[in-house]
Amino acid sequence: MGMPWVCVVPKLPTLRLMGLIVETLDPTDAYAQRRLKSVDFSLAGYAISGAKLKSVAAAVANGRIGVEVGDTGPNFAAAYTVGANRHFTLRETKSVQDDNWRSQIVHESIHAAFDMEGIRPPNDIDEAVAYLGETVWFRAGGLGRVVTAPDAAAKIYGAASALEARLDLHSTPGQRLTRDQAQDLIAAINGHPGYAPSSAQ
Ligand SMILES: [Zn+2]
Repeated sequence: MGMPWVCVVPKLPTLRLMGLIVETLDPTDAYAQRRLKSVDFSLAGYAISGAKLKSVAAAVANGRIGVEVGDTGPNFAAAYTVGANRHFTLRETKSVQDDNWRSQIVHESIHAAFDMEGIRPPNDIDEAVAYLGETVWFRAGGLGRVVTAPDAAAKIYGAASALEARLDLHSTPGQRLTRDQAQDLIAAINGHPGYAPSSAQ
């Protein structure tokens, strides 16, 4: 009996992206671990932590959260889809593994962490935690970030940076923020054309 011709074509871009996501959320070096551990706060009762992000890494590694490369629309380079077919969608196959890329992964993984817990925050709170979380992660690396365009995105990042700077979330973990404390950030999110009331991106 002859061997059947089996053409094994591993999905290299997707596998590589899975690896990069896992490395981002569950890194081996101390500097990167410290940055993730600094993401530790709650907003309106919805809490995020480095441990929760690590559990998202485990879910990506074992396939409970899928990864696909595809169209993410005009406003965003990454997206997360909640529910039974939960998965990340990333626009590019050749993503550079820099901090801007990693911060998007932190952002989408915050949506994923709530989804894995079976928690559905209001959309604006979900986004506010995600933007604030990636901003904390950035600042914990000793880095600042200025997003100047497009304007609607710049307003969100500006509000997230101002809130982070005011509360020093990266150096004072475990803070419990009220919706009022994040009202500028929430207003900027609700002013962004990409955020319909029912879809987290
Ligand atoms: Zn989002």
